[in-house]
Amino acid sequence: MRVPSIREIRTGGRTVFLRADLNVPVENGVVMDESRIIATLPTLRHVLDQGSPVVLASHLGRPRGAPDQKYTMAPVAEKLSEILEDYEVLFIDRTIGPRVEAMAMGLCPGQVLVIENLRFHPGEEKNDREFALDLAKLAHIYVNDAFGTCHREHASTAGVPAAMGGGYTGLLVEKELEAFGRMVTHPRKPFTVLMGGAKVSDKVAVIAHVLPKLDNLLIGGAMAFTFIRSRGVATGRSLVEEDRIETAGEIMRAAEKAGVNLVLPVDFVCSQSPDGPPVTVPWNRIPEDMAGYDIGPESVELFRDVLMKSGTIVWNGPMGLFEVEPFDAATREIALILGDATSGGAITIVGGGDSLRAVTEAGALEKVTHASTGGGASLELLQGNELPALGHIAVKGLRPLMGANWKMNGTRQGALDFLDDMMLGNSMHFGADVVLFPPFTLIGGLSAAAEDAGVRLGGQDIHWEPGGAFTGEVSPGMLLEAGCSWFLAGHSERRHIFGETDAVVARKLQAGIAAGLKGILCVGETLAQRESGNTAIVVGKQVEAALHGISGADPSNLVVAYEPVWAIGTGKNATPEEAQKMHVFIRERIGVILGKDFAEEVRIIYGGSVTPGNSGGILSQPDVNGALVGGASLGSESFLDILASL
Ligand code: PEP
Repeated sequence: MRVPSIREIRTGGRTVFLRADLNVPVENGVVMDESRIIATLPTLRHVLDQGSPVVLASHLGRPRGAPDQKYTMAPVAEKLSEILEDYEVLFIDRTIGPRVEAMAMGLCPGQVLVIENLRFHPGEEKNDREFALDLAKLAHIYVNDAFGTCHREHASTAGVPAAMGGGYTGLLVEKELEAFGRMVTHPRKPFTVLMGGAKVSDKVAVIAHVLPKLDNLLIGGAMAFTFIRSRGVATGRSLVEEDRIETAGEIMRAAEKAGVNLVLPVDFVCSQSPDGPPVTVPWNRIPEDMAGYDIGPESVELFRDVLMKSGTIVWNGPMGLFEVEPFDAATREIALILGDATSGGAITIVGGGDSLRAVTEAGALEKVTHASTGGGASLELLQGNELPALGHIAVKGLRPLMGANWKMNGTRQGALDFLDDMMLGNSMHFGADVVLFPPFTLIGGLSAAAEDAGVRLGGQDIHWEPGGAFTGEVSPGMLLEAGCSWFLAGHSERRHIFGETDAVVARKLQAGIAAGLKGILCVGETLAQRESGNTAIVVGKQVEAALHGISGADPSNLVVAYEPVWAIGTGKNATPEEAQKMHVFIRERIGVILGKDFAEEVRIIYGGSVTPGNSGGILSQPDVNGALVGGASLGSESFLDILASL
């Protein structure tokens, strides 16, 4: 499922309906913790800065479908207006209706209208169509930034985007998806999951899903007792899910089979009751009349050892009875360890209310890579499930990439005009990554204009060394410094005019990706190779040579361009069917080298005399995920026409 981000469009002054999660604690009309308001600010500012007014909607508490002043959004609006000093925040004590519509439609750039609690209306939780249609009348563009409710299909998360013909994720949801997507599906190894909390039943599905990818599974919290009981060892009066003992045993056997290092606590802090005096005992000596309320110091050290050697850590759930001192000690210590592990280079993701509180109170919130704002939604993602609300803004297929390769053509003014035209022509609205490859000398002066136009810049060539005596060459670092995010490797003109071999192309591709750039690998056969029936052999070899043993590549930083040499700049082009067939072949080859999952997500684009006249047919092929355009990109009009055929 691909969900477009608000970053992909220019809102252009149109009113945005922003569904946020502003479910903050309020006492006597005062907001007690503003973190959720702060978490929404990047999206809010992103939209307001573009000159679009915002209708801001959220639920607050559980008013059960009827107005209840205890849960009014008024204090949230007040707090927001204190924080968002440079913009005007208005509040209306209604959620829908003619007064709200009049106010929403009368909003000026720079104004935010906070509407009353969505759950004051029974239609919200029932995803009522009429209610959703009334909300949809309030704005032109829908944005969902309420990660905490994305696992629910309510009117504001499902009905409204359906009624508005789709929408976009906000920056917070985008960040959450990135954290649980790439970091968990392609984790930096060793990959460790630390599970805590009381119940095995809450976490079984997550553990089952991530187990095959894991190196270490650490189990803390009361759920550890269910695991210990599955080994036939008594746990006194500790909390055990009797009906999950068998499941815990199965998880232990599956971990052993998969070669996962499953670590259980080796000691516990026990007591006769949560307010009784604590004693620390080994894991297999819990007194009959006591319950374990926290993992002990030796267990913390054992966990520390594993965590400090991990490349990626996901932590969900407390180690003990976090709300009661001294049984909060291990959870707090783990929070500190997570901070240290992050400083040591690990990617750390923390989710769940108590773990998050511990990290916050331990002062490690700023240190961890990602602190998730949604417990239920994050568990859904960890189970490999898609978030139902996001299905309503998802778009089909991979995001196309449209490259404009200017080769040794163009002037600074011409490039600035081109970027201006891309902005005016709203090139981002075509839902594609648009990348301009100007001559090297122009790149540095285009950054600001490219940024405004939402166009990325790329280098047409790259050298593999970071610097040195290589007259005429440009290093990856230089491209980055000039404002490039992309580069081309293996363009047929480099291969055939400048004699670059497969080995040279591979070095260039690897060096660019390792430096943090995104690479487009060009492959393609000559006319002679095609006529002698060698297309598949040649292209297969080029793909293999460039990708075999590549490190650090993922489908977001690697694109393959199929560019038959006989079609480049000749006015001849592959038919849509020929392009599709070759793209399927290339995808299969990538699958063999980098795995099927990778191959399914990687974009394979076509290049070779693409024009507004033939682009529709080529781009409509299921395995053609964009185009690299040479001649027809030199004029912004024809390039915009090609984009329009997406
Ligand atoms: C290219 O140079 O990558 C290219 C595809 O050129 P043209 O579109 O002019 O054939």
